[in-house]
Amino acid sequence: MSGNSAAPPVNNLYSRRREQMFPTLSQAQIERLAAHAGSIETRAGEVLVDPGHRHGKFYVVLSGTLEIVLPGTEGEVRVHALQPGEFTGELSTVTGTSGFVRIRVGEPGRALVMEGSQLAALIQTDAELSEILMRAFILRRMGLVESEPSEVTLIGSGHSAGTLHLREFLARNAFPYLNLDIDADPQVKTLLERLRIGVNEIPVVIRGDGRMLKNPGINEMAAFLEMNPDIDSSTLHDLVIVGAGPAGLSAAVYAASEGLDVLVLEAGAFGGQAGSSSKIENYLGFPTGISGQALAGRAFVQAEKFGARINVACQAERLNCERRPYSIALSDGRTVLSRTVIIATGAQYRELRIENLSRFVGAGIYYAATHLEAKLCDGEEVVVVGGGNSAGQAAVFLANRCRKVHMLVRSDGLAESMSSYLVRRIEESPVIALHSQTQLTALEGGDHLESIEWRSAQTGAEKRGIGHVFLMTGATPNTGWLHGCVALDEKNFVRTGPELKLRDLADAHWPLERAPYLLETSVPGIFAVGDARAGNVKRVASAVGEGSICIQFVHRILAELDATARLPSQGGTAAFQPARMTS
Ligand SMILES: Cc1cc2nc3c(=O)[nH]c(=O)nc-3n(C[C@H](O)[C@H](O)[C@H](O)COP(=O)(O)OP(=O)(O)OC[C@H]3O[C@@H](n4cnc5c(N)ncnc54)[C@H](O)[C@@H]3O)c2cc1C
Repeated sequence: MSGNSAAPPVNNLYSRRREQMFPTLSQAQIERLAAHAGSIETRAGEVLVDPGHRHGKFYVVLSGTLEIVLPGTEGEVRVHALQPGEFTGELSTVTGTSGFVRIRVGEPGRALVMEGSQLAALIQTDAELSEILMRAFILRRMGLVESEPSEVTLIGSGHSAGTLHLREFLARNAFPYLNLDIDADPQVKTLLERLRIGVNEIPVVIRGDGRMLKNPGINEMAAFLEMNPDIDSSTLHDLVIVGAGPAGLSAAVYAASEGLDVLVLEAGAFGGQAGSSSKIENYLGFPTGISGQALAGRAFVQAEKFGARINVACQAERLNCERRPYSIALSDGRTVLSRTVIIATGAQYRELRIENLSRFVGAGIYYAATHLEAKLCDGEEVVVVGGGNSAGQAAVFLANRCRKVHMLVRSDGLAESMSSYLVRRIEESPVIALHSQTQLTALEGGDHLESIEWRSAQTGAEKRGIGHVFLMTGATPNTGWLHGCVALDEKNFVRTGPELKLRDLADAHWPLERAPYLLETSVPGIFAVGDARAGNVKRVASAVGEGSICIQFVHRILAELDATARLPSQGGTAAFQPARMTS
């Protein structure tokens, strides 16, 4: 579509859920909002908000109209004209991150205006308005993700691991962008030539104002797209949570909803391992199952609604626990300070020892089986390696879309390592072939995986022309960044509470008379939850449970610190004493 078109973009969501996306507030609701807002005159044609800016302002139309417009490579598309009683905003307004639409005055009139921070405070206190606004904001973001035109364009190749990595990151963060694939559309090559971008420089990310970033990593891209709220290195937070998987997100929801100042640091996209699960069927309250991404997306919005600040593509490199407040060094050189810390960095899959494996990651080798990967191997033959629940789920999910699914397991069968409901489904599926006592041994291909070899104890080596392999082979904890700060077990999982041996506490010079709380590590005020914790049951429900329980203990620690700070002998500086000296 070109020019300033009045037609809505081709997007079912806009027509299906229009009323919830663009509701009209009642007079009483507008009056409640007005108590916290200013009011402005709006002049025809005036632009109130531009895409790609951290505007954070929220408007309610009192008279006249405001047009919501999506900028695209071929001109603007008008999404909606807001009438009196309707309001602007989407999730970025609450989080203070970069927005996606232009808001321009249509008919002149008046509007209420609020800063994003005032809006966030209102959402936390007014349940009725919170429900209406948050529902609209979530639906508007979903609409933007589905829409064709976007402020951000990603040009790449579906056969490149770099492109897939960026796409996966943007998709998992529900970030709207226009995807142009050089292999799927011949016109993309012409566009690249016009923009003087070499094929060797893709993937490339382009913003609406023409700025571009060639071949970026996710950290660079997140900064370029202003996806995160600002971090102030001098702020002393009540709590920093490292990791935004189910455990970290749950801790963030409970901590923020209970009034704590919470910062969350996430190395990749929110959702952790669960975010890569195509369907979680054993999480309480979802009898027909829920995709990990949908579950994590809801938790993310919930945490942000309560005021937690979540930073994605933001890796914790080192925890410094020698002194209080604790500090965490980030991989981009910044530092954050906190009175308490929750380690929620989970675990990651073990790599197989195949020489050229890393070459094919994202180009035939996958660690997740979501709709994104399934689309890449529609109707083809695939291999799933592993005998645990995640392997079983992947096989069952892929069996719906693929011609044949080969499951390779090292052991004699599945029963020991997998839930029986999955074992039954695999046995009953005509599409899934189970190969027990079988290991993947070799990979071959050019830019993309083309063939594989496996070795079976019964039938020996076999080469197959299969180009898609899903590795679901167990996990190791992400605890390297702790650098010996807290006691770990022999497999490097973090020991907490009753799991801590006397020896661990002696080695760590545990300074207090009380024993560590449940989920507290060998250092006071530092906790571990979820898959990174020794003895944890590797399930979404237990990660969520631990994240929420942990906040009770965080409150106790903060109260202990406040009480110590009030003691005359401590002179109000307890928060800055060496960790091992506070009691
Ligand atoms: C494909 C798959 C399917 C699954 N299906 C199910 C299921 O059906 N039911 C079920 O109950 N469980 C399932 N699980 C297991 C479940 O997902 C995990 O137990 C759960 O995600 C653990 O949550 P967590 O928050 O502790 O850790 P994770 O989910 O591992 O999240 C940890 C997060 O920390 C981040 N991180 C790591 N290091 C750093 C760092 N240094 N700085 C900042 N951030 C960091 C990671 O990027 C990650 O996002 C499945 C797992 C997978 C992989």
